Amino acid sequence: MLKVNNVELKYGNFVAVKNLSFTIKPGEIFGLLGTNGAGKTTTFRVIMGLLEPSKGEVLFFDDQVGYHNVDEIGYMIEERSLLTKITVKELLMYFGQLKSMDKELINERLDYWLDYFNITEYKNKLIKELSKGNQQKIQFISAIINDPKLLVLDEPFSGLDPINTDLFVKTIRKFQEEGKMIVFSSHQLDHVESFCERIVVLEKGQAIIEGEINQVKKDFKKLTINIKANLDLDYLKTIPGVYKVINNSDKISVKIESEAYIDGVFEYVKSCDNVTLFDVEQASLSEIFIERVGGKREEV
Ligand code: ATP
Repeated sequence: MLKVNNVELKYGNFVAVKNLSFTIKPGEIFGLLGTNGAGKTTTFRVIMGLLEPSKGEVLFFDDQVGYHNVDEIGYMIEERSLLTKITVKELLMYFGQLKSMDKELINERLDYWLDYFNITEYKNKLIKELSKGNQQKIQFISAIINDPKLLVLDEPFSGLDPINTDLFVKTIRKFQEEGKMIVFSSHQLDHVESFCERIVVLEKGQAIIEGEINQVKKDFKKLTINIKANLDLDYLKTIPGVYKVINNSDKISVKIESEAYIDGVFEYVKSCDNVTLFDVEQASLSEIFIERVGGKREEV
């Protein structure tokens, strides 16, 4: 179990993370979200024991996180800055030894993972000779070479093509099944939605949305009704509870304030011709994110 308890982190006088708390259980994939500069990387550095919080604590299986348990944590940093003038094997040897592994075990694991990611042919090539996507695979392997209990992934999918994204997704799911704890950040909210049960959204270092994604969606209340029919869009906009009408190429999306307003729209649509679709959907995480984070900025 990883527990982040009321953490505050300051750079000088600047408070980058404030009063942040969450827990991650074995076998859980947890999403840490936020706009650029919200405090995600800073939070990861605190979790890794690289930065000491000015308030609060991080507990890794009830133990303060620090140098003594860092061998059980894997970290894929956001900056794709590998040591490019050494070979793949030399680099992974280096990371493995940093994690106190013996050479035989590192060799065994690196052969396994290079084969898994289909890049064995690059084992003795210089990092700089690899494509960006393959360098990213090496960076991922450097985070998992020690078979960590906690895997911290800062923007693991950025810059990956769809095939490699899928491979990373499957690998992270495999780790989940093995009972590892995984915390990751991503600006691709569709991934987050399909991947995590629980999230924290940071804005200016503070959690503004937190909890189970299903609950976050229920609490948001606003819904979208997708309709295909001969409709009078101007009339639709006057129905109580309707706050936006979007004319898509294939359907009309009607945004309503809450469940209570479905019937009003339904009554009108019933009276229209050629109705082939009337479908109510919850807001996407992306929609909630834009509204809540954007709304928070407008309040400031
Ligand atoms: P991004 O999505 O752009 O990577 P982030 O959510 O990871 O952003 P952080 O890198 O954690 O954000 O930065 C949080 C805040 O702390 C920002 O305002 C940033 O400018 C500031 N900050 C980060 N590192 C330092 C540092 N070493 N010294 C001073 N301020 C810093």
